Amino acid sequence: MTQPNNRSGWRLITGLALAATALTPAHARPDAQTRPNIILIVTDDQGYRDVGFNGSTEIRTPNIDRIAREGVRFTRGYVTYPVCGPSRAGLLTGRYQSRFGFDRNPNGDPADPRGGVPKTEEMVSELLKRGGYSTKLVGKWHMGTHPTLRPRNRGFDEFYGFVEGGHSYRPEETNLEALENSRKPYDWYRTKLIDNGARVHFKKYLTEELSDRAVEFVSRKAAADQPFFLYLAYNAPHSPLQATDKYLARFEHIKDPKRRTYAAMISAVDDGVGQLLDELDRKGIAQDTLIFFISDNGGVVTAETGEQSVADNGPLRGGKSQLFEGGVRVPFAMRWPRKLAGGKDYDRPVSTLDIFGTIASQTGIGARPGRHIDGVDLVPYLKGEKTGDPQPALYWRMFDQGRHAMVVGDLKYYYNGKQAVLFNLRSDPGETKPMPVTDKTLIERLGQLYANWNGQMARQPAFPPLGTWPPKQGQPGKPGANAAGKPGAKPAPPKEAQP
Ligand code: CA
Repeated sequence: MTQPNNRSGWRLITGLALAATALTPAHARPDAQTRPNIILIVTDDQGYRDVGFNGSTEIRTPNIDRIAREGVRFTRGYVTYPVCGPSRAGLLTGRYQSRFGFDRNPNGDPADPRGGVPKTEEMVSELLKRGGYSTKLVGKWHMGTHPTLRPRNRGFDEFYGFVEGGHSYRPEETNLEALENSRKPYDWYRTKLIDNGARVHFKKYLTEELSDRAVEFVSRKAAADQPFFLYLAYNAPHSPLQATDKYLARFEHIKDPKRRTYAAMISAVDDGVGQLLDELDRKGIAQDTLIFFISDNGGVVTAETGEQSVADNGPLRGGKSQLFEGGVRVPFAMRWPRKLAGGKDYDRPVSTLDIFGTIASQTGIGARPGRHIDGVDLVPYLKGEKTGDPQPALYWRMFDQGRHAMVVGDLKYYYNGKQAVLFNLRSDPGETKPMPVTDKTLIERLGQLYANWNGQMARQPAFPPLGTWPPKQGQPGKPGANAAGKPGAKPAPPKEAQP
């Protein structure tokens, strides 16, 4: 902001702003143009090319494609980690999750207050609630199962879904009362859902159920003229691979039954996104609703995750659990008709961190004073008011695996635990072969850049890894039985890269 030369004029402007603030009731409807409704749609493990707007011909997603067509498609949109938990922790705080030790998927122990996003962080839901928004999470949480870390203690007025990292899609399989009744990891896939304070049986195919709840919330808030934040976190198309005949019938052209099911799961999400967009149109609020669509990590294309290889991340290399582009570069689109012209591609690197940065800035609420946010406001870049890369460098740390990576413009730095190599993403987006490096100091300098960043992060993960709760028989069940970072604390075996 340029300060007026006339100091008394500046004081006058400041005074008027303060007076206006004082006259605004705490929960008055903020101006729809400056305080848009916000919808954050996240899918789980959807591959880069498994969406129509990134060129899939096998899996049609006409509704999801509307978001990109009527908004902006990010061709180089990155998440902060190649599996669910850490990726979502970065997304929802706007800060690299390694700053607070969220370097792995938590083990789900509801007695352990360390196993999630610490209360010292402000999540986007908390920021928006602070700004007077009505907030709801529909779907998957995964940001902590301890009572203090659950959605309604993290800025969400309402919550319908499940707190762990995955869930069965079939009502008939959900016969466990609660997470606390788990006897072994992944029992929680069979829990009843949580509807605010109640545990409920759901009746439809889970994805349909989540879509219905999302539409109901939007409809109710629009009718009440309340600005809202909807975090619609589908667990599809994450395993278990389950779909209904309605969606499977759309993919008879896909012969592999597992990929066909995965495609059907995405198609069910697409129908839900269509219902949501239609509701915004019906209520006349589409113009002033800012929507983001992302997948939380790349699709599964390698047995390294212990899951079925079903996704297409083409033309990128690798997938979920890896720091190659296929693991961290995801379908990413944004729509805000009031502010942004549609039909644009944005080709510079952006991060899911920037979703927080954009929301904090565009709503005018702002992050907590003095708080460093790693995400930036993308709108000035999308409108051409700012040039250059919004994120001059992006960083990834996989603590347990000893791997890390950076993207600096078109350069990719990848350290595999033994050595660092460089890729030129402009000429070699598939990372097929390392760049020849003539300047021997380049890798060294990039290594130093990473070291500088890493020096700002937590020294080690803040909680034990997935697979350490519930305890095996004969082991103590109290929290801390597998303390994070202690010598001998083993990194998660490959299967536990889920979810
Ligand atoms: Ca995921």
